Amino acid sequence: MSISSLQTIPFVDLTWQHAPLEEAIGRVISAVITQGDFVLGQALRDFEANFAAACGTSFGVGVGCGTDAIALGLVACGIAPGDEVILPANTFVATLIGVLRTGATPVLVDCDRATALIDLTAAKRAITPRTRAIVPVHLYGQLVSPQGLIDLADRHQLIIFEDAAQAHLAEREGYTAGSIGLGAAFSFYPSKNLGALGDGGMFVTRNAVVANTARSLRNYGAASKYCHTEPQGTNSRLDTLQAAVLNVKLPHLSLWNQTRYALAEHYDRRLAPLAEHGIIPIQNEAGPGHIYHLYVVRITETCPSSRANIQAQLTAAGVQTGVHYPIPCHLQPAFRALGHGLGSLPQAEALSQEILSLPMYPGMTLEQADYVVDAMVEAIMARPPVRRLQGVNS
Ligand SMILES: *Cc1c(COP(=O)(O)O)cnc(C)c1O
Repeated sequence: MSISSLQTIPFVDLTWQHAPLEEAIGRVISAVITQGDFVLGQALRDFEANFAAACGTSFGVGVGCGTDAIALGLVACGIAPGDEVILPANTFVATLIGVLRTGATPVLVDCDRATALIDLTAAKRAITPRTRAIVPVHLYGQLVSPQGLIDLADRHQLIIFEDAAQAHLAEREGYTAGSIGLGAAFSFYPSKNLGALGDGGMFVTRNAVVANTARSLRNYGAASKYCHTEPQGTNSRLDTLQAAVLNVKLPHLSLWNQTRYALAEHYDRRLAPLAEHGIIPIQNEAGPGHIYHLYVVRITETCPSSRANIQAQLTAAGVQTGVHYPIPCHLQPAFRALGHGLGSLPQAEALSQEILSLPMYPGMTLEQADYVVDAMVEAIMARPPVRRLQGVNS
């Protein structure tokens, strides 16, 4: 198998989804300019209702970014200093930052190597009398088992707070992301499955009191104009402009997610023969409810080529890849004080060394996926480059 003509396959390409919507987006932006309701405007209220309904929950509170949705959402759910909050170590660092901002104590736990999702047995072992909440991360677009979470939370009286920043409309066991717990956080960072034209986020909840507290927290802690009741209040509101754009994009999300799933199935099929060479896609236990924010493979020990080598050869073939994430939270220099050393969370540490994210976005073609797989086969099968001594015998 050889790559006849060099292509460039970006990791993510947003032009395909925006081009057909450009006129509609322009119209709603003009409308907001005409109305002048730039902050907490009508389009925001509409989008909050639309998005919460799409998630199968009751209330949406638009905020400045996903990290704020986690931090303010947890505070609204009653998480406070003295509480312990369980979360996985193999997540984007924003999950941990959000928990730390509440003043609660984060308790990082290990993950399942095959699915990359939080290990609920490890979570159970980490429960103490001070544990108040568990923050599952629906990593790469796959829900952590809702029934598994609910069983654990009910038995130990824990709050479930979902980090659904990578899981817009993901489903499993009859649940939609955002409808499992008391609260959930979403990010609308541009490359997320539903992305704004800049930063944005939303906290969703089924509880009216919690929703009202979150509305107050994002608006300087105000209960009403110039009457401030929440000391942790801040300024973090989803712009009316961004909400207007997201209202245009939301009706297309389900189809975009289906397109990703079809690409993932194609990758799975084409990559299956590489299992004997140690290339193992992250296991999908959610079936068609997985929304593949990222398509990730593990380059395991039996692979004759290293991740660095495969990644370099893919780059040379014009294929952009990523690693999500190369350093687990507990080994980040900023969080050494949490006290987990190297070797303390072995599955998360091993995964961080073996994962590789392949290009995945609606608009990518099956032929492009074939090109990626062909380039991978070449990278694995090619004999390792002969090391030459520079300047000697040449
Ligand atoms: C993107 C992301 C966040 C943070 O969202 P921002 O909008 O970038 O603040 C949090 N958690 C996870 C898992 C994410 O992927």
